[in-house]
Amino acid sequence: MKEEYLNERMETLSPGELRALQEQKFLKQLDYVWQGSAFYQDKFKAHGVERGDIKALDDLAKLPFTEKDELRKSQEDHPPLGNHVVAPLENIIRLHSSSGTTGVPTFVGITAHDQQVWTQITARSFFTQGIRKSDILIHAVGLTFFVGGLPCKDAFEYIGTTFVPIGTGASERVVMTTKLLGATVLHATPSYALYLAEWVRKKYRMEPAELGYKKLTVGAEPGGGVPEIRKKLEEEFRARVTEGLGNSDAAPVIFGECPYQQGMHFNAQEYIVCELIDPDTGEVREMRDGAEGELVYTLIDRECSPVVRFRTRDRIIVWTSRCECGRTSFRIRCVGRTDDMLIVLGVNVFPSAIKDVVTSFRPRTTGEILVLLDKPGPNVQPPVHIQVEYTAGGANLEGLKKEIEGALHDKLLFGPDVDLVPEGSLPRYEMKAQLIKKLWESR
Ligand SMILES: [Zn+2]
Repeated sequence: MKEEYLNERMETLSPGELRALQEQKFLKQLDYVWQGSAFYQDKFKAHGVERGDIKALDDLAKLPFTEKDELRKSQEDHPPLGNHVVAPLENIIRLHSSSGTTGVPTFVGITAHDQQVWTQITARSFFTQGIRKSDILIHAVGLTFFVGGLPCKDAFEYIGTTFVPIGTGASERVVMTTKLLGATVLHATPSYALYLAEWVRKKYRMEPAELGYKKLTVGAEPGGGVPEIRKKLEEEFRARVTEGLGNSDAAPVIFGECPYQQGMHFNAQEYIVCELIDPDTGEVREMRDGAEGELVYTLIDRECSPVVRFRTRDRIIVWTSRCECGRTSFRIRCVGRTDDMLIVLGVNVFPSAIKDVVTSFRPRTTGEILVLLDKPGPNVQPPVHIQVEYTAGGANLEGLKKEIEGALHDKLLFGPDVDLVPEGSLPRYEMKAQLIKKLWESR
C-alpha cells in the first residue's frame, strides 16, 4: 500500500533540501527578532553577538540559549505578556498558557498566522500517527488554556477527523460517547488511558477492548514511549498506540510517531530548527542513531512570541536512519527531563513550586520540604508524597495537613499526600537544595 502523507514534499525532503529551506527562513526570522524583540536585542547584546555575525544556519550556536525562566521573568517585568513578545496585543487571536513553576500562568499568544502554522505542524503530527478523515476521535485531554486542547481541535478539523471534545474528568461521558458513536480513536495522556482501562472494568465489568478503539494517540507525558506501558495499553485496548510530543512555547504537537512505531518523527520541517545539546555543557551534539541529549528549539516562522535556542529540558534519544514509512525526518523518544520537573497525570509540577506553596504557611511550617519518589520520574502517580516540616508549638497538625494539601491541589493542580515532620528533620543544603528524595537509590 502506498504510504500517505499530509504534506508529501515536506515529509520527504532530502537533508540538503531541508537545510536550505530552514536556513532561508531562519535568517528572515532572525531579522524580525532583531528588529522587533527588545528582549532579544538586550540578550544578544549582552552575549556580544551582532546581526552581521550570523550569516548561515551553521552560526546558530553563536547565539545564546533561552531559558523558560527568562520568559517568565520577561512577563513579570513587562506585563501582561513580556517584552520577548513581538506582535501587538490586538493582533493576538488567542492566549494559551504553559503550566509554570509557581502556578502563575505564563501566557503564550498566537496571531492568525501563528495559528495556521500550529495547525500545519500539529495536523502533520497526528496524520503521521495514522489519524484520518474517516476517524471519530474522543478528545479526553484538557481543552482550556492548555496547548494540547483547542490547537489540537484545529488540527483534527484540518485533517477532517470527527472531533469529539470531552475534556478531562468525565470518564462516563467518554464511555457513553464512544459506544454511541463507534469512536475509533482515543486521544489521552497515557496515565489517563491506563486509568480508564481499570475504571471500565470496575464500573461496567467490561473489557477495555470492548470500547472498540482502533488507535490510541497519547502525549503530554513520556509514558507512551515506555515499552511496559505501551504493551499494557495495546493489550488492554487491543489498539495501536502512537505518541506525540510538543511544547507550549514552540508548538502543540511537533513530533508524531508513524504506524511503524520506531520513535516520533519531526513534523515541523519549515517551522522549527531542532538542536541536540549536552545538557551540562550546552555543547551541540551531532544527530545520529542513538545520540542522546537535550532538545532545543529555534522557531523560524513565528509572529507573536519567537524563541531562539529555547531549552526544552526534554531529554531525548535520536534516530536518523531511514524509516519504513518513507518520511525522511529524524525520530526521537523522550526519556526524561534534565531538570526536576514531575508530571502528575499530564500536569507539570516543579518541586520548587511545592516549596513556594508550603513556605506561604510560615510560621506554622519552616518552608522545608522533601518530595519522596519511589521510582524514577518524571511521571508520578498521585498522591505525591511530600514531607513538610512543622514548627515547634504547632497545634492541630491534622488541620494543617489538610490546609496544605488543599492549597497544593488548588494552586498546582495535583493530588498530594502531606506527611508532617518535626522542625529540623529534613536535610539542609548550603548550595542548591535537593527537593526530591529518590527512595530507590537509598534502599
Ligand atoms: Zn516512519
